[in-house]
Amino acid sequence: MPGVLLPTVREDHTVWSCPWPIDENIICSASNQMTETTCRNCGKVRWVGAEAISNTGMIIGELTGHDPVTTEEIWTYYY
Ligand SMILES: [Zn+2]
Repeated sequence: MPGVLLPTVREDHTVWSCPWPIDENIICSASNQMTETTCRNCGKVRWVGAEAISNTGMIIGELTGHDPVTTEEIWTYYY
């Protein structure tokens, strides 16, 4: 089933997981609140590939891009 493309952050989406590598083989994967736009662990900015995590701890989607006009984040939810 294709993800649902929404231009806004869903209400139950409260956490994001950092997608940046911290060395050759390890992804940072730190959990950050959606109110934070940089990672508390590695300090990098929230970016494409970040996982969307719900208020119940489930992975519900991912950051798939940015609107070319508004630069708003585009989160794709799996369900
Ligand atoms: Zn990080």
